[in-house]
Amino acid sequence: MPRIAVIDRDSCQPKRCSLECYRYCPGVRTGDETIIIDEHTKRPLISEELCSGCGICVHKCPFHAISIINLPHELEGRCIHRYGPNGFALYELPIPRAGSVIGLVGQNGIGKTTAIEILSGRLKPNLGSDTAATPKQLNEFFKGSELQAYFKGIERVKIAYKPQVVDTLPKAVKGKVGGLLSKVDERGAVEELTLALELEDILSRDVKLLSGGELQRLVIAAVAAREADIYYFDEPSSHLDVYQRLNAARAIRGLAEVGKAVIVVEHDLAMLDYMCDYVHVMYGQPRAYGVVSSPRGVRVGINVFLDGYLKVENVRFRREPIKFEVRPPSKARAAGREFFSYPKLKKSFKGFQLEVSPGSLYAGEIVGVVGPNAIGKTTFVRMLAGEVNPTTGKLESKLTVSHKPQYLKAEFDGTMEAWLRSVVGEFGPSFDPEVLQPLEMSPLLERNLKELSGGELQRATIAACLGRPADLYLLDEPSAYLDVEQRLQMARVIRRVIEKREAAAFVVDHDVLSVDFISDRLLVFTGEPSRAGKTHGPLDMREGMNLFLSEVGVTFRRDPQTGRPRANKPGSALDREQRERREYFYL
Ligand code: SF4
Ligand code: SF4
Repeated sequence: MPRIAVIDRDSCQPKRCSLECYRYCPGVRTGDETIIIDEHTKRPLISEELCSGCGICVHKCPFHAISIINLPHELEGRCIHRYGPNGFALYELPIPRAGSVIGLVGQNGIGKTTAIEILSGRLKPNLGSDTAATPKQLNEFFKGSELQAYFKGIERVKIAYKPQVVDTLPKAVKGKVGGLLSKVDERGAVEELTLALELEDILSRDVKLLSGGELQRLVIAAVAAREADIYYFDEPSSHLDVYQRLNAARAIRGLAEVGKAVIVVEHDLAMLDYMCDYVHVMYGQPRAYGVVSSPRGVRVGINVFLDGYLKVENVRFRREPIKFEVRPPSKARAAGREFFSYPKLKKSFKGFQLEVSPGSLYAGEIVGVVGPNAIGKTTFVRMLAGEVNPTTGKLESKLTVSHKPQYLKAEFDGTMEAWLRSVVGEFGPSFDPEVLQPLEMSPLLERNLKELSGGELQRATIAACLGRPADLYLLDEPSAYLDVEQRLQMARVIRRVIEKREAAAFVVDHDVLSVDFISDRLLVFTGEPSRAGKTHGPLDMREGMNLFLSEVGVTFRRDPQTGRPRANKPGSALDREQRERREYFYL
C-alpha cells in the first residue's frame, strides 16, 4: 500500500516543541534516518521509504502537524503534483470538455485550486518529483487519457482564469469599470455581460471604490469577455447574493452554450447544480492530500458528495451522509412562548431607508435572514446588537447579545487561542466539546491569527461569537469562505448552542442550502438595493422561501434522495408548474 507522510508547514513549529516527532520515532531510535532534522530550516523531514506507518509521531506532535496516510493501491504512481517532500499531494485531474461546465466540489484544502492552476498552465505539475515534469513525461503519464492530448497542446490552449480572491484587484488594476471591461472585450460580449451581471450602474466607478460583490461581478464579466478555449472560475459566488449568484451562473453557463469548456470550483451547491453539466468530487484529507474522482452527472455527483461514498471507486470519504430535513417548530414556539420581540423600527441614511416591521423570536429558535445585498440586513443586525441606533423606534430589550460581524479582521497579534481567550474569557467546560471540536479548531489554536485563511478565520469568529454567553446571537454571513461540510457543521454547532442555552439567533446568509439547513423561520428583506429595504416576518419556512424566491425569480424543489434544495431550470415543466401554483420552494 503506498504511504505518504505529510507535514503541515504552517502548523509545524520546531521552535516551540521538543521535536517529539523525532524523539519518539521508533525508526530514529533504532538508528535509521526515518526522520532527519533539516540543518537549515530546523524542520523535520520524514522518509516515506523508511517510515513504518506506526503513527507515533502523529499523536506525539503537540501541533497536530503530521499526517501519515495509507493510500489505496490505485493511486500508486498517480500523483500529479507534490508541494515538495512531505508536502500536500494531488492525485488525478479533472477533464475539461468543450460545451460543458464541469464543477469541482470538495473540502477546503483538498487541492481544487491546485488542480485548476495545473490545467490552466499556471502551475507546472511535477508528478510527485522534485522538478517540473517535461512534456515527454506528461505525455507518458497521461497516455491513453483525454488529458494526453490536452497537455500536448497546452501551449496553444487559450485560457481565461478567475482567481479565488478578487479583493486584491484594485491594487493591480487602475481606472474605471467601463474602461477595464472594454479593454478585455475580445468576444464582443461586454454589453451582454454588463446587463446580465447588472454592472450598468458602476461602469463609471473607479475600480478601487467597488465593494466585494461588485468586484466579483466585474471579474466574472471580464473573464467571460475574453476569447479563450477554456474558462476557469474559482469560487465565483463569494460576496454575491442569491440573485447575483444565479445571474453569474447563467453568464458562466452561457460560455458552454457557445461551445467553450468551463471548469468551476464552487461551495454553493445550489449554484453548482444550476450551472454544471458534470461534477468531479474531490476527497482526501485537507492540507495533506486530495484525489479527483471520475466525472459524474451533476445531480448524481452532488448526491454522491453528500452521501460521502464513491461507489465506482469504492471509497467512503465521510462517515455519515448529509441529509436535509424539515424540522418541527421549537418547543417554545409550539407552546407560543415568546422570548424576544422588537417593535417597528426605522433607520435612515443619506439615500437609504430601512423599515423594520415588529417581530418576535422563541427560545431555541434560529431565524434565517435573507434578501439581496445592500438592502439593510447588516444594518438590522447592527441595530439589534446596539451598534447602530434606530432613527425611529426604540429597542428596550435587556437581553445580552453576541454578534459575529460580516467582515472578518485579523488585527490581533498572537495565537488564535490567545485571541479567543481575549474575546471569550476563560473557556467554559462545554466550549471545547460543543464548539471548538466540531468546528475543528484544535489544530488552529497555536497558529498566529494573522496567518489564517478566510475559512479558518471565519470558524474562529463563529467560535468567538458562540463562546460568549448571550441570549441573542447574531451571525452575519457565517458561511462565507467555508466549504460545504464546514457550512453544515457550522449550522449544527449553532443549533446545538442555541437549543442548549435556550437562546435565539438571527443568521444572515446567501447560501440557500445553509439557510434551509439552519433556519426554523425566515426574515425576508425586500426593496430596492442601496435605496430602500423592508422586512417581512419572521415567516414560516414555506411562506418565507416563497416570498424570497419569488423576488429572486427562481423556483426550487427538493431532491428526493438527499432532501437538498435544487434550483429548477428556468422554463422547465417543474418551474412553470411551481410558478403557477405560487410554490417557489416546497412542493
Ligand atoms: Fe515539532 Fe510537530 Fe514539527 Fe515535529 S512535526 S518538529 S513535533 S511541531
Ligand atoms: Fe516514525 Fe512512525 Fe512517524 Fe513513521 S509514523 S515517521 S515510523 S513515528
